[in-house]
Amino acid sequence: MMTRLFFAGCALLFASSAAMAETCDFQIESTDQMTYSTSEMKVGAECTDVKVTLKHTGKLPVESMGHNWVLSDTGDYQAVVQAGMSAGVEADHVPEGDDRVIANTELIGGGESTSVTFPTSDLKKGGDYTFFCSFPGHSGAMNGKLIFG
Ligand code: ZN
Repeated sequence: MMTRLFFAGCALLFASSAAMAETCDFQIESTDQMTYSTSEMKVGAECTDVKVTLKHTGKLPVESMGHNWVLSDTGDYQAVVQAGMSAGVEADHVPEGDDRVIANTELIGGGESTSVTFPTSDLKKGGDYTFFCSFPGHSGAMNGKLIFG
């Protein structure tokens, strides 16, 4: 009798922790005119994971109009842009193993789409985050704020 109750309790605990996981989806479009369709992402406190899907609605190839979505602390953003420039197109213009990069998608060209999922445990509530395209010369026009909590 006790054993049976114990197992029932475990199953209940498992079910409630699974219900608490919530992946919040964001869709962002990017264009041949070097724009993102959004300049602000509000991530609610209930989100345990964030999934960002980036779509390139243009026609130009990745070598001339590549776009990605990179997230860092606003204070690190310019330095990551610089480092991404020298990382090269083969590395998606993202410095490898750089822990200032919180999350990033791969670099895509016209007609392609890509996504990245990352846990909000990497974010602080009320932190100041900037997302941007790290293709050389793009971040000035292609950037926005991410707000968590
Ligand atoms: Zn770009």
